[in-house]
Amino acid sequence: MTTKDSIQPTNFIEDIIEEDLRTNRYGGRVHTRFPPEPNGYLHIGHAKSICLNFGIAAKYKGLCNLRFDDTNPSKEQVEYVESIKEDIRWLGFDWGNRLFYASDYFEQLYEYAVQLIKKGKAYVCDLTADEIRETRGTLTEPGRNSPYRDRSVEENLDLFQRMRAGEFPNGSRVLRAKIDMASGNLNLRDPVMYRILKVPHHRTGEKWCIYPTYDFAHGQCDSIEGITHSICTLEFEDHRPLYDWYLNELDIHHPRQIEFARLNLSYTVLSKRRLLELVEGGYVSGWDDPRMPTISGLRRRGFTPESIRNFCERIGVAKADSMVDIALLEHCLREDLNRRAPRVMAVLRPLRLVIDNYPEDQVEELEAINNPEDPEMGTRKVPFSKVLYIERDDFREDPPPKWFRLAPGREVRLRYAYYITCVGVVKDKRTGEVVELHCTYDPQSKGGWSPDGRKVRGTLHWVSAPHSLEVEVRLYDRLFVKANPVGEKDGADFKTYLNPNSLEVLTSCRVEPSLRGAAPGNRYQFERLGYFCVDSVDSSEERLVFNRTVPLRDTWAKIERGQKNV
Ligand code: ATP
Ligand code: MG
Repeated sequence: MTTKDSIQPTNFIEDIIEEDLRTNRYGGRVHTRFPPEPNGYLHIGHAKSICLNFGIAAKYKGLCNLRFDDTNPSKEQVEYVESIKEDIRWLGFDWGNRLFYASDYFEQLYEYAVQLIKKGKAYVCDLTADEIRETRGTLTEPGRNSPYRDRSVEENLDLFQRMRAGEFPNGSRVLRAKIDMASGNLNLRDPVMYRILKVPHHRTGEKWCIYPTYDFAHGQCDSIEGITHSICTLEFEDHRPLYDWYLNELDIHHPRQIEFARLNLSYTVLSKRRLLELVEGGYVSGWDDPRMPTISGLRRRGFTPESIRNFCERIGVAKADSMVDIALLEHCLREDLNRRAPRVMAVLRPLRLVIDNYPEDQVEELEAINNPEDPEMGTRKVPFSKVLYIERDDFREDPPPKWFRLAPGREVRLRYAYYITCVGVVKDKRTGEVVELHCTYDPQSKGGWSPDGRKVRGTLHWVSAPHSLEVEVRLYDRLFVKANPVGEKDGADFKTYLNPNSLEVLTSCRVEPSLRGAAPGNRYQFERLGYFCVDSVDSSEERLVFNRTVPLRDTWAKIERGQKNV
């Protein structure tokens, strides 16, 4: 886990916390929470919030709770609760014994509501949802008071109790805070606190048929848990006066709400609603489809928790919305995998290559380096024989200028092996397609070293045909063709911009035999091709399936270099 050694504040949230520590506002405590609603899988945007909340707690030797905001039973499921816990743990964070649910506090929240009724600060309103919307006014016009606004405390208490008892149908009544229908802030125009929803809850079952709204639940849950800093995204800035109003009226522990800009990432969408649409519409194979920006999708794709945490640290937190280039996320991943992933040789689109002057039955075990970045990772043996596969792309019958790979009459190096020269090309008579190459090798060049100072420009990867394993490789590309699929000016549905080529499946790839039995989730660099991982769902001992995590070419590093050169 990344530890932040500096105790210097590094962003405006830490400035606020330091100030609160200085003034002893919360007795020197720092206590944050991560409050997911279990209505979908977590995505990379949530990772930013998780890193922030758990990171701040760690930095200030405080605590961070995990609290499920399960106040809307119609959209919430146990499956989501379990996936969220798994994802947070995988990211490397630990909530200890502080796993909570808003539903743990339903009784207490009900009591708080009763208190507000008794203070004359809340009332039962019989307007329909539409009528409430209509009488709410607009940004330029004040709202109108509900005709039920002046019900007596006794009547309100009675009605609210009967709402709880299930006497009234869904949508027939709500409990509203009595604040100010003329407030410039629409959130303060008598917001709804409770609604009737006769839907079983994944934890409380049939016990409740009234449920608190997010706004009424959130601050009070923060308060009950003794949270000091309630960090949320910018869209809640306008809700802060309401957050404060409830806590002031109830006169209970009052955490400070701080808003930051949510993460937007190019070429993807970060909204559970839209991600659910992709899952339900079959546009992807599930929440963990390796093209999804979900934590489970990124994990299956081969991302490491370290790279995601590093990314979250690098993007920082700000008060203004912006879009982060997905190339930065990929850059963080390459940096990490470059250090850790063993190199192996794999051929995605195999072309058969026969070495005419290599003895028929000979097999040599050649030494290959596992990771030049880390000598400790050692070496391995790779078998070499008369018949090999090379990458179809590495041969051109009619090469363009500056072609350093294989072509008729050209000499190249086979990595860790020998110099070879192409002496013949076999084609399919019917299609004209090249189906086999014939080469000779220079026995003096063993290990790929030049025997006489003779230089070759190209080094190719290869596998021995009889020793290699046939595997499936799935190549992924960006999910969308537009950087901001939800913000296009033509206003088209975001799904219009799905990339039709985001997945390419190659079924007859070949990998070196050291990959036999590779465990699901293992990550490798396929030399010259990119980083790949063993798929955790579809791979088996009999048939390995690899996901391309990310190609080698780093567009972000290029941008960074460009900036330094300016
Ligand atoms: P979505 O819009 O994807 O449905 P949400 O905000 O409704 O997300 P919650 O489960 O309520 O999802 O989010 C839990 C926490 O994660 C909240 O504090 C929320 O502000 C934060 N969060 C959600 N999306 C992002 C994002 N893109 N960047 C940073 N934080 C986020
Ligand atoms: Mg939410």
